Amino acid sequence: MPRYEYRCRPCGTTFELSRPMAESAAPATCPAGHEDTVKLLSTVAVAGTATTPAGATGGGGGGGCCGGGCCG
Ligand SMILES: [Zn+2]
Repeated sequence: MPRYEYRCRPCGTTFELSRPMAESAAPATCPAGHEDTVKLLSTVAVAGTATTPAGATGGGGGGGCCGGGCCG
């Protein structure tokens, strides 16, 4: 189940909820009970993006992997 991050406007805290995608836009109540919250952009991948391979942006023209279809 995806997690969504919300920000509470009255107290300024941010919190995460795990809920079905169908309910991602439903109102979320902050841990302190405030209902005036806004949904933030998804942060699902943020924790894992710090380890980008050094050569990831230097590719092109290699003719190896991407030419063979293994990149997608
Ligand atoms: Zn609050």
